[in-house]
Amino acid sequence: MVGKTSVEIPDNHPLNNIEDVEEFYDAINRRHLTQAISKDRPYTYWTIELYDKKNGIRGGGGLGVLAADTRRVAEQSNVPFVLLTPFYPSEQHQHYIKEGDNFRNYTTHEQVDYVQYGYNFVDTVIIKGNGQIISLDVIEKNLGSTKIVCITEPGFGELYSGESGGDHRLFQEVALGFGGYQALKLAGLRPSIIQLNEVATFFAALARLDELASNGMDFYESVVYTRKHTLYTNHTLVQAAEAEFSYDQFERFVFPNLKSPAVKKWLSDKFEDGRIRLSTVTIEIAELRSGVSKLHARVANYHDLAGNKVKFKAITNGIDIPTWTSAGIVNYLSQKGIIDKFYLPAEGYKEKIEEITADDIRQLKARGRDELNAVLGHRPDQYGNYLKIPENAILFQFKRRFVDYKRPWLPFSRPETLRDILEKHNAYYILCGRVHEGDLEMSKKLEKVLKIVDSDPVLRERVHYLPDYDEELGRALSIGANVSINNPIVGLEACGTSWMKDIANLGLLVSTHDGGVADCPPDSYLNIAGENEEAELDSLYARMEEAASAWENDFDLEFLVKKELKNYLPVISGTRMLKDYLDYLF
Ligand SMILES: *Cc1c(COP(=O)(O)O)cnc(C)c1O
Repeated sequence: MVGKTSVEIPDNHPLNNIEDVEEFYDAINRRHLTQAISKDRPYTYWTIELYDKKNGIRGGGGLGVLAADTRRVAEQSNVPFVLLTPFYPSEQHQHYIKEGDNFRNYTTHEQVDYVQYGYNFVDTVIIKGNGQIISLDVIEKNLGSTKIVCITEPGFGELYSGESGGDHRLFQEVALGFGGYQALKLAGLRPSIIQLNEVATFFAALARLDELASNGMDFYESVVYTRKHTLYTNHTLVQAAEAEFSYDQFERFVFPNLKSPAVKKWLSDKFEDGRIRLSTVTIEIAELRSGVSKLHARVANYHDLAGNKVKFKAITNGIDIPTWTSAGIVNYLSQKGIIDKFYLPAEGYKEKIEEITADDIRQLKARGRDELNAVLGHRPDQYGNYLKIPENAILFQFKRRFVDYKRPWLPFSRPETLRDILEKHNAYYILCGRVHEGDLEMSKKLEKVLKIVDSDPVLRERVHYLPDYDEELGRALSIGANVSINNPIVGLEACGTSWMKDIANLGLLVSTHDGGVADCPPDSYLNIAGENEEAELDSLYARMEEAASAWENDFDLEFLVKKELKNYLPVISGTRMLKDYLDYLF
């Protein structure tokens, strides 16, 4: 059985001693922001998913981790920032048991109480839905210059529960938008910007438009004003893949919440054959639009109602470096003058990176291995065993959601090759990732991998699957492993941030050229390339072999780690991401 997991992400901001926001604005040459953003007119960030278990909310993947990191970076930089999201009263946990020859994947549901996580009840707000008046609780938690504001009620359900075009999802989205907007007003806050982290948060911008238009502003002026102050951040590639809602659903859940007849008319006109995609209206209501990596912003295929292709500004995701990096490495990078106190690349960082030695890397990683082993002490593998990875062994890791395009099964396509690499280099392989509840196809693919491992004594000793992937495992694996594998089908990863955590922790990255990885040239890391899957497999195993050999050779290790860091440090810095948003928005 899986033990109760305590998410132990330490508060680890060893450099942070920033006095006030002016200091940060000066550092990024944006003094004028003191006028644009203030405590009463904060930057507002809307997200249906937040992955921040320390603050009580478990997400599903990268979208939520990004939201949590964006808020953390704002807090460290002292930027006035309010994150609005639902508080889900229930969350899922994944378990694995072996029954005979079969591995059974099942999910349990756990109640979550916001009081335990330090939220205060503020008030209730009311929305309408399906002919009923629904009262929502507004709760909040202050964190430095930032605040998390949540709306919740006992029947709110879980993240992504129900079908994606279903009534319950629409209810959740409407509740966040209209309820959250009222919550801001209750607190006396007017957003300086509304950032919509994907289209599920469209209703926040709609609530603002409705407020302006029903309070005497001319309708077209209201549209112009709302458009100018709304940023739509897109994480998806294909518009057609998005779920649709029907006019009937809007009549039941959306229109009753609108006060302005003009807004209702405007929204009604956006339906085609009685159906609507939220991206269509989000594009209409947000003049500012961003994609999450250079490649993604270029290839995201979206059109507005007039049929024009939508342009997205590329703002590559970053990570909050101190959250995801071992304290030892953060201190090391700062002492070497590689990062500054804002966790931005320091001036002359490329020359400073040259000073890193293989000895330093090995020592820092040995401490990271201890941290990982401490976590593995309470996170069992697929057999219910607790691992300890030996200090002198090389560790490969793959940790990401189990979705098909990420191809978690790829390295198991030729079990004998994998076995040879692991044996030859005294290496281990940890595989980690949750299967979405109800995804039978991926569940079967995972089971197949586990059976391959089970049937080979070498693989059984050296390959371990850890269920219920979460922040704790994500962080520990980045810190304690030597090599990470990232092999999405090229063209399908919007950005990905898991690989950034691996680079920040001085690991070697073996990856296809996709998402944010493709922000830098393919020779910046150990690149998997091939015309087809067979050729990619040849390349994958060759790169794994190269990575393991590099860890046995000081010269190669130093060379590869330095190259990665020089190329990607500016990309992975979450503070760089916040700076890019501020540059674009103000
Ligand atoms: C970092 C992280 C992610 C992000 O994963 P990508 O696949 O790289 O987008 C998802 N889940 C958890 C638990 C993480 O820590």
